[in-house]
Amino acid sequence: MDEILGQVLRSAVWERLDMLTELADRADAPSLLSVARSELPRLTEGWRSMLAAHEPDDRGNCPTCSGRWRQQKAPCSVWRAAYEHLVAGGLAPEKPARHALDAFPRRMPAAAR
Ligand SMILES: [Zn+2]
Repeated sequence: MDEILGQVLRSAVWERLDMLTELADRADAPSLLSVARSELPRLTEGWRSMLAAHEPDDRGNCPTCSGRWRQQKAPCSVWRAAYEHLVAGGLAPEKPARHALDAFPRRMPAAAR
């Protein structure tokens, strides 16, 4: 994938995430219910697909994060992020989680992506 296509792809994903965040913050209840019904299955399927690619192999390494010269022991950063956001973060009260998210820029600088 060339650099421009990669940039377009990343921008589209960031914009989609921004749109969903905006909807969660501002949409009225009927709109939010409609979005949740359509988007939650897409998001859970996306997580499943991504996590499947990071399932440990029979030596306990992540085949996606491992390189030729360096093996990444499971759980890799993708699994740790999944646990943090889906399990640990899911139990946190809304207020502290919001503050934690607000501490991070919504969009990373282009050079850091
Ligand atoms: Zn991995």
